Amino acid sequence: MKYVGAHVSASGGVFNAPINATQIGAKAFALFTKNQRQWTAKELDSKTVDKWFKELEKSKIEPKHILPHDSYLINLGHPSEEAREKSLQSFIHELQRCEILGLDRLNFHPGSHLRKISEEECLDRIALSMNQAIEATKDVKLVIENTAGQGSNLGYKFEHLAYIIDKIEDKSRVGVCIDTCHMFTAGYDIRTRETYDKTWGEFDKIVGRKYLMGMHLNDSKPELGSKVDRHDSLGKGKIGWDAFEFIMNDERMDDIPLVLETIDETIWAEEIKAMYELVGK
Ligand SMILES: [Zn+2]
Ligand SMILES: [Zn+2]
Repeated sequence: MKYVGAHVSASGGVFNAPINATQIGAKAFALFTKNQRQWTAKELDSKTVDKWFKELEKSKIEPKHILPHDSYLINLGHPSEEAREKSLQSFIHELQRCEILGLDRLNFHPGSHLRKISEEECLDRIALSMNQAIEATKDVKLVIENTAGQGSNLGYKFEHLAYIIDKIEDKSRVGVCIDTCHMFTAGYDIRTRETYDKTWGEFDKIVGRKYLMGMHLNDSKPELGSKVDRHDSLGKGKIGWDAFEFIMNDERMDDIPLVLETIDETIWAEEIKAMYELVGK
């Protein structure tokens, strides 16, 4: 069974996310539990939390099909120790918000070296931050997202993800989210049966399918291997529908949140419907 949804708005309060998800026929969703462009946030009050659980129950969406995303400001691999520490504290705070909301995973971009340290040093800092965050929290899983490799962002190679996971002491607390646009612009083709199988075969071998805890479903404006992160609506970009048909018929993507971050939110309901129509094709 596939659980497809979108990264919906939580503006006005986190409880609006399940309401917005239901309105577009989503069986999964992503959200920011706080403003993604600010370091601090008001603590979640009990009224908000009660309302969240009430709306969540109405939506019938389970926590394991919800993929909260952390703030864009956080860089767990920051070359400056002071800035890394600031990111770490903010990240721990986000993990605690997930705990309060009964969510079991938090999606984040690994980090950037900002051309001040080597890739390996940056990956080591990311793993250090993750171990410290795991130590400071209880059970939310840290879900690393693959990136397009734009700028100095790491995580654009499966080897980066594997390198980080290898350094995590408690591997029961780590997972991976694969974004199809990022995967494609990082150079992993998924447009044909052959390339799809080859790419996911590499993923299984290098990272391990058991770590796959979510996906972002995006078509791509830029070309294969361009390392540019620009999403497109499904079927309208350089990836095309076939890849999404393969995903919807791949039982390895069962029971995890499959989340649209496509550019035109007015057609999310149609895109979700179109994804389900691909099942069994
Ligand atoms: Zn993404
Ligand atoms: Zn992106």
